[in-house]
Amino acid sequence: MSNLEELATQPLPPADELAGRWAAQAHDHKASDGEYQRIMSDLAFGKDFSDYMAHAIWTKDGGWGEKTLQPYGPLPVTPGTSVLHYGQEVFEGLKAYRRADNSLWLFRPAFNANRFNQSARRLALPELPVEDFVGSCVDLVRQDERWVPSEDGATLYLRPFMYASEAFLGVHPAAEVTYLNIGSPSGSYFQGGFSPVSIYVSEDYHRAGPGGTGEAKTSGNYAASLQPQEIAYEKGYEQVCFLDGETNTYIDELGGMNVFVVYKDGHVATPALTGCILEGGTRGAIKQLLAEEGVDVREERIALQELLDDIKSGKISEFFACGTAAVVTPIGKLGGEGFVVDVPTGPLTKHIHDRITDIQWGRAEDTHGWCYRVK
Ligand SMILES: *Cc1c(COP(=O)(O)O)cnc(C)c1O
Repeated sequence: MSNLEELATQPLPPADELAGRWAAQAHDHKASDGEYQRIMSDLAFGKDFSDYMAHAIWTKDGGWGEKTLQPYGPLPVTPGTSVLHYGQEVFEGLKAYRRADNSLWLFRPAFNANRFNQSARRLALPELPVEDFVGSCVDLVRQDERWVPSEDGATLYLRPFMYASEAFLGVHPAAEVTYLNIGSPSGSYFQGGFSPVSIYVSEDYHRAGPGGTGEAKTSGNYAASLQPQEIAYEKGYEQVCFLDGETNTYIDELGGMNVFVVYKDGHVATPALTGCILEGGTRGAIKQLLAEEGVDVREERIALQELLDDIKSGKISEFFACGTAAVVTPIGKLGGEGFVVDVPTGPLTKHIHDRITDIQWGRAEDTHGWCYRVK
């Protein structure tokens, strides 16, 4: 078990104990009923936001200050604000689920809280106590309860993040940092059904390199992935797959999702964590669920050439990507400079998607203590 997975197993206090740390301020311009109805009847991903946001400022001298829930809205940013120049920022992404009985839940929030702090250390940002991180999710979701959709597969996507808010152009870790947690009501990722995506392998550009920030959830990794993503689009592909930055040989991950390969002989492999790959919570849950079902799950370096050969020879029966937003997505086509192969689809991808979503939505027993009740 990885260090993060280990930390994520530490039990959290119940939500009633964490609630109230982030005090709600008055709000005089919440979305009207009409606007609320319009938004909730046309859910996409990440384009609308709930009424409130959690907010706290850290200073080098005073530590974390007042924790509040404020009306969602513009921030005071002066042009000299450090994050705009040097990108000192980290973020998380997790979902709030409304189950059939109207109860509200998070999935493995302790994993996200600990990963947030792991990312923070790499970016020389302050850590936020796990109870405050999860508490900000609890208070925001309780306050903005009406924004947790009841539509099948839809969630309130939570985006906790913090950034260097000090106005200073010198290069140093910021002496003032702002933490925010915002909520975005989002539809099911699979509005068009569970359909395979096409992937372009980027051999010219990497998202991360040895000793870099690939293992931290930070904006700069995404900035580095955008141009290769554009190239993939232009060539007719939906997503990019990055190779390792050291040898340009092994599969690392997509711009924002980890990958798994399913072999005909029954074993499953995912790229080993090298320090350049973002360790996904979905990846960890899949590894654990498959292992418990008796599947031989290996973490190893997967060479692109071998992957292509094994797809062509039929040794590989499925290839899928995973992450919080999309959960599990089958990969149907893999292309790159001078090659393109069709990847077969099969039952394991759908099976693991259903296993995870059944646990998240309370349709299957949560034997791991992964689900955290908010209300
Ligand atoms: C967030 C993220 C993932 C997926 O992590 P989950 O915890 O499963 O959502 C994978 N790769 C990158 C680069 C990411 O930023």
